[in-house]
Amino acid sequence: MKVRLSKSTVGAAEKESVIRVLEKEYLGMGEEVRLFEEELKAFLGTPHDVMCVNTGTAALHLAVLALGLAAGDEVLVPTLTFVATFQAVAATGARPVACDVHTDTLFIDLEDAARRITPHTKAILPVHYASDSSRIDDVYRFAAAHGLRVIEDAAHSFGSLRNGHKIGVEGDILCFSFDGIKNITSGEGGAVVSGDPEVIRRVKDARLLGVEKDTDKRYSGDRSWEFDVTSLGFRYHMSNIMAAIGRAQLPRMDMVAETRRGIAARYIKELADISGLRFLALAHDEIIPHICVVRVLGGCRDSLREFLAAHGVETGIHYKPNHLLTLFKTEYSLPVAEELYGQILSLPLHLDLDDKQQVYVISSIRDFFRS
Ligand SMILES: *Cc1c(COP(=O)(O)O)cnc(C)c1O
Repeated sequence: MKVRLSKSTVGAAEKESVIRVLEKEYLGMGEEVRLFEEELKAFLGTPHDVMCVNTGTAALHLAVLALGLAAGDEVLVPTLTFVATFQAVAATGARPVACDVHTDTLFIDLEDAARRITPHTKAILPVHYASDSSRIDDVYRFAAAHGLRVIEDAAHSFGSLRNGHKIGVEGDILCFSFDGIKNITSGEGGAVVSGDPEVIRRVKDARLLGVEKDTDKRYSGDRSWEFDVTSLGFRYHMSNIMAAIGRAQLPRMDMVAETRRGIAARYIKELADISGLRFLALAHDEIIPHICVVRVLGGCRDSLREFLAAHGVETGIHYKPNHLLTLFKTEYSLPVAEELYGQILSLPLHLDLDDKQQVYVISSIRDFFRS
């Protein structure tokens, strides 16, 4: 049997939605993106504005840029994240400062972050690792105490709740990703959510090459000819084709939540008695898990991973700590993240993972620990 770690899942609704846009022959950013933004705002039930862009990385880049950060500024980032988080900060000229994480959740460790604060520190960028951000209140207290802005990397957590509220209802700036394997997809894509009108204005212009107020023109099928540009901008806007896919995905979020939670819950329940495995201490009833990560103790992560690969089961390692990469190398070590890097293993989790496949994954893991 072959079992994939992750995959995109689209059905008839997405195909019809894309064909509808193709037939209109208005493919770039227009009406469809405006509607997707409105529907996202309604889905999240947020008073904040939602700005769609073409990747989650672009969302993070524009969020950091919108705060006016540049060379000489520093942003506190947990080292265990997709390299996108680090690159997005670095793209502005600001320096991502790698911080350690908690063993049980892999969320940013604020005690360590406090050690990394300098007069140049301007923001903190916590990552909702494996969709959990239960400790976010501590981040906002920390930020208030040190005069920092907060950008939440919510790439994993679209649709999740935290402390009873949907992610995106509260917070300074949040960035979602809609890449092919995230909780919802628009092909590729992302969004910035914020209640700060200045941040939103800057993101709105910067996603269209800095052309002032071009968004409003494009939403009504027009574009700017006479315009001014006063700040740096990029081609980061979302297309109507992407928005069409995203719009077709939104109505199925209840199914997505139930399926993804169900798969994660089953791994946890049926592997609970294996002493060499530790699942993370996450708010399992609130999150919609993008990945299901288990710690493999006793130094046998790689042999388990190879055993599963030999049995056709794909697994992942989320992630190599960024402070070990050449570009982001630090002079200090981050002992918790470095130890976790040798333990973490992501198990297959996607909407097409059927019962038979999951039983096979679980029994393969049990076979490994028996021998
Ligand atoms: C996916 C992801 C991103 C980037 O999103 P893209 O849409 O792939 O650019 C950023 N941070 C984390 C933690 C992610 O998992």
